[in-house]
Amino acid sequence: ELILGIESSCDETGVALVRTHPGAVPTLLAHALHSQVEMHQAYGGVVPELASRDHIRRVLPLTEAVLAEAGASLAQVDVVAYTRGPGLAGALLVGAGVACALASALERPVLGVHHLEGHLLSPFLSADPPQFPFVALLVSGGHTQLMRVDGVGRYALLGETIDDAAGEAFDKSAKLLGLGYPGGPALSRLAEQGDATAFRLPRPLLHSGDLDFSFAGLKTAVLTQARKLGDALPARSADLAASTQAAIVEVLVKKTLAALVQSGLQRVVVAGGVGANRLLRTQLDAACAQRGVRVHYPELHLCTDNGAMIAMAAAMRLQAGLEQPRRDYQFDVRPRWALQDVSLPEAA
Ligand code: ATP
Ligand code: MG
Ligand code: FE
Repeated sequence: ELILGIESSCDETGVALVRTHPGAVPTLLAHALHSQVEMHQAYGGVVPELASRDHIRRVLPLTEAVLAEAGASLAQVDVVAYTRGPGLAGALLVGAGVACALASALERPVLGVHHLEGHLLSPFLSADPPQFPFVALLVSGGHTQLMRVDGVGRYALLGETIDDAAGEAFDKSAKLLGLGYPGGPALSRLAEQGDATAFRLPRPLLHSGDLDFSFAGLKTAVLTQARKLGDALPARSADLAASTQAAIVEVLVKKTLAALVQSGLQRVVVAGGVGANRLLRTQLDAACAQRGVRVHYPELHLCTDNGAMIAMAAAMRLQAGLEQPRRDYQFDVRPRWALQDVSLPEAA
């Protein structure tokens, strides 16, 4: 079967085509992405109304590009999948509306997908996909969660952030350093020229004994340091960036190790935009190699939002027999939606 996936939950429009294979992992045939980052940069963050309008402009051209690249026609698509939530309501409605319109015209079923399940399953798009079960560290712009994953749709939450997400901590600290939006990648680039031991920043909840995270205090500590530095900030911003990144990464790595101990599992999957962070990858790889634990990541360009992960999640849920795609073409979106809600009851 050919599954078309459409992602439009925030500020990237993503479209992809995935093919299912009986008894094997689905494969990606083509994908295309348009990031709105430049458009929102002037405002220092995502402007929801502008995001929705831009999704409208981009989604059909991207769909045509994907079909052309895959050498497929729209008529060959068997299921149209879209991101149903969580995300910005107006942005989600564009993807949902277009998916249902296409599917209705083609007389094919539609399937709404959970955005975080897309992130979570994105490492299955790589050449060497993980095997179940594993501990998942989901680190995106809006979420930071550790999960026990026993299979498709079998997600048990082990711990999560009680305030800001890791990506948010990167972005907010980057903003304080004048690095623009979204500042995560820029902060991590600047950090490479800095001394990570220059500033002592808090490691919130590091010794809390549970698997929860907190990053709001870290952002405040960065603000305090930046104010203290005053005019000296530009000269020290690389050091402050490096110290901030080190604090975030240390907490993520240590809590992931604690999750491995608690669950007794021997495999880690990292997903979400912060999974592209180089320091996180090297430190987690080193810590896990010592323990004989295998770590899987999405490909770098599939860490942040994309259509491939949505098509993949749809394909894997269909394959696992978890979904009856709908043909009523009535759609709703779920701007707030917990991953537990798409998890089988036994796993929750
Ligand atoms: P969610 O998936 O929770 O709804 P989102 O879709 O906005 O949120 P993603 O697209 O997964 O999040 O990731 C975006 C986040 O990843 C941003 O916060 C961005 O700063 C961060 N990010 C991307 N690359 C890096 C990097 N190399 N280092 C640190 N952070 C990064
Ligand atoms: Mg984004
Ligand atoms: Fe995302």
